[in-house]
Amino acid sequence: MNLCDTNVVRRLMASYGISFRHEFGQNFLTDPSVIEEIAAAAYPTEDCTILEIGPGIGTLTRALCERYRKVIALEIDRNLIPILDETLADFDNVTVINADVMKTDLAELLASAFAEGAVAVCANLPYYITSPILMKLLESDLPFWGVTVMVQKEFADRLCAAPGGKEYGAITVSAAYRGSAEKILNVPADRFLPAPKVDSAVARLRLYGDRKPVVPKDEDLFFRTVRAAFGQRRKTLANALTAGFPELGKQTVTTLLEELNLPADIRGERLSVEQFANLSNLILEKQTESKKE
Ligand code: SAM
Repeated sequence: MNLCDTNVVRRLMASYGISFRHEFGQNFLTDPSVIEEIAAAAYPTEDCTILEIGPGIGTLTRALCERYRKVIALEIDRNLIPILDETLADFDNVTVINADVMKTDLAELLASAFAEGAVAVCANLPYYITSPILMKLLESDLPFWGVTVMVQKEFADRLCAAPGGKEYGAITVSAAYRGSAEKILNVPADRFLPAPKVDSAVARLRLYGDRKPVVPKDEDLFFRTVRAAFGQRRKTLANALTAGFPELGKQTVTTLLEELNLPADIRGERLSVEQFANLSNLILEKQTESKKE
């Protein structure tokens, strides 16, 4: 069955009496060369288990099954499960789970389903929830080799941005902390059924695992600092941190920036991952000091 043929896809969906669900970000890939490129970028050899988020009707899943040892696919839409049973019937190396990735305990899934060898994430992500899914993957610190994802083009630019630009934000810093991001290819909107309103791109984050170049003393506090810094986009870093850490107060925040030799009016988008780690380490010191008082 050729799932890149839009007539075949429409007939298949109609035969199960279902239609594309916008609320689940259902834009299915229809370009075989794009599918091959995403699948190939997920891991360098076939010896890998792939976690796919949102298999849809199984278009990318089939390419992943052909290429890799094992595939685990999480699909939120229960209506698609019977279609996946049909489109993936040729493969015995795939497990489809009807679940919402945001409600799934990924550590538990990894421990039970991915008993041995390398694991990588590969997905054409639903656009409505790209950022929360990626933050979940990044904050979980699970031992994925890499995360290869189709996302909105602007989102891919944010993932790969350098400090200083308007694309640089919480997701950039969190991604750069865990790994190194690169854009693999741009994908025009007409390569999907139905076509979304925006163009897309495939980005790959190669994760550092235990070899992170920057290690903050308290990782949760590091992520909280990053979220606070970008929570108030048009504010200076000092004001954003004062809002995000009300327990510190304006004066302590001002002192923090001075101690780090940062200008008082600097904005969060100018800080590198290392500077964010130093900042969160200093916040930790201040918090510990004030607990002692
Ligand atoms: N992988 C398919 C492809 O490339 O053609 C479909 C990709 S489509 C952009 C996104 C898929 O993610 C849809 O099948 C949608 O139902 C599913 N999805 C949306 N939200 C999800 C969630 N929270 N957990 C798991 N799957 C989700």
